[in-house]
Amino acid sequence: MNVLTLKHATIRYGRLTAVDGVSLELRKGETLGLVGESGCGKSSLARAIAGLQPLAGGSLCVEDGLRADDTGQRPVDRRSKIQLLFQDPGASLSPRMTVQSLLAEPLKIRRRHNPQNWERIVTLARSIGLGDQLLERYPHQLSGGQARRVALVRALATEPSTIVADEPTAGLDISVQGDLLNLLRALRGPLGLSYLLISHNLNVVGRVTDRVAVMYLGQIVETGPTAELFNAPAHPYTQALFSANLTLDSARRRERRLLKGEVPSASNPPSGCRFHKRCPVAQAVCASQIPRLRPGQNDRSVACHFPLAIASANSSQAISG
Ligand code: SF4
Repeated sequence: MNVLTLKHATIRYGRLTAVDGVSLELRKGETLGLVGESGCGKSSLARAIAGLQPLAGGSLCVEDGLRADDTGQRPVDRRSKIQLLFQDPGASLSPRMTVQSLLAEPLKIRRRHNPQNWERIVTLARSIGLGDQLLERYPHQLSGGQARRVALVRALATEPSTIVADEPTAGLDISVQGDLLNLLRALRGPLGLSYLLISHNLNVVGRVTDRVAVMYLGQIVETGPTAELFNAPAHPYTQALFSANLTLDSARRRERRLLKGEVPSASNPPSGCRFHKRCPVAQAVCASQIPRLRPGQNDRSVACHFPLAIASANSSQAISG
């Protein structure tokens, strides 16, 4: 069962198409990683899923099959099922509110503030290390890790099914990062959560996700189980992205293929395959024919005329269709 299904989702800012026809599903109980270079459309997609950015085209369905743009469903109902964990909790925590007020606010907005729900929130806060002594503090009196935990409890206040976490560990010390990731993992089963984790940190993605989707210039170019993608990427962009990560293991660093050139502008993307001007195995057809995302074996999909496993075996033959 999917908790989120995006079909041909498109997001525009004026004449710039930041996300172009993305289809993606988030399965119940999984952690899906979304990776790609800065500006590839990851955060725009996160904001659209959380209801903060309208789709210019395509659709987003939540678990009960309702389209998020159905006029019959009140936006508040939809937003309580999907919560966004902001990249910078400082920006989402009002500096004038105490932790107690911040934790109560989501319940009050949705008219669900009652003794039973408040007890649930306080119990959850205590269970993740936010003791009662923190309730009277203001955001500037919290450590980075405590602020992320307050943001997490606020996101969980309305008992969502899905958390969209946009760079949740950015700016944290390594040990605090580890604590937060362990916490997210520990909460997933008991609270019945699914996560969409957006991160440029491939070590984080490799450690906590079940599946990965790779974005390039507003489109998904590859999806698959995390271990498979990390061990044997099929799309040349995925391979280049992973091999550019200096902290991956040395065997993979030896096979480094550095990305050449700048990311082209999303307002004027290249014809055919958007990656063809930077791709080390591009052939003539790549400049004219758009490769579609096609399902393959082992729950993998790739959008490439010459995926790497095939390119090495038969580099002169394009995938038909
Ligand atoms: Fe490279 Fe062609 Fe595949 Fe694009 S379609 S990634 S240019 S081989």
